[in-house]
Amino acid sequence: MRFDDLGLAEPLLRAVREQGYDTPTPIQQQAIPAVISGGDLLAGAQTGTGKTAGFTLPLLHKLSQGAAPRDSKGRVAIRALILTPTRELAAQVEESVRTYGKYLPLKSMVMFGGVGMGPQIDALRRGVDILVATPGRLLDHHQQGTLDLSKIEYFVLDEADRMLDMGFIHDIKKVLAIVPKHKQSLLFSATFSDEIKALAERLLNQPQVIEV
Ligand code: AMP
Repeated sequence: MRFDDLGLAEPLLRAVREQGYDTPTPIQQQAIPAVISGGDLLAGAQTGTGKTAGFTLPLLHKLSQGAAPRDSKGRVAIRALILTPTRELAAQVEESVRTYGKYLPLKSMVMFGGVGMGPQIDALRRGVDILVATPGRLLDHHQQGTLDLSKIEYFVLDEADRMLDMGFIHDIKKVLAIVPKHKQSLLFSATFSDEIKALAERLLNQPQVIEV
């Protein structure tokens, strides 16, 4: 199978070619068409399997297809939210979004704690299509009224098992209570404990299940 066979828009294929990727990895072969087709996804994948491109490429594809909604001040609204357990992973995932989305007119932003809120608020004001965040800082912004999550269409929990290990379950539940009910959700986890299964049950609607 080749990247060209997965249904991705040409600007994404161009960015993938520039990365020098030959063939999609097994998780990409399964996840990309599954996400494009529109359903929820439960994916078992370790780091190093190419899982990041497995969700960022089809999300970028879907976002590139429809016109971006605007908020009351005319800014593009956040349509995709990707939650990660750590700053490092958030930064890596957002870097992937930038790399694969370089030929698309979409704006991404990374948000995590331990740094000032001011520059993040400024970046949010300029408009963001895709937000990659750690849960704590996301909730800080929401509480301060500097973040509108009411237009989220796509929601990703990356490394969900690590998130639970780090004690983020309450924060995740708070985020789930804020984002719209009707959305496409993807959950990636290296392991499937009962806790992950319960979270998947709560978040996902008749998900396609992929394990690599
Ligand atoms: P990940 O599992 O998402 O952390 O990705 C692991 C590494 O694999 C990253 O450095 C990617 O740039 C690289 N990668 C992702 N997809 C492919 C692919 N189809 N072919 C070759 N390398 C890839």
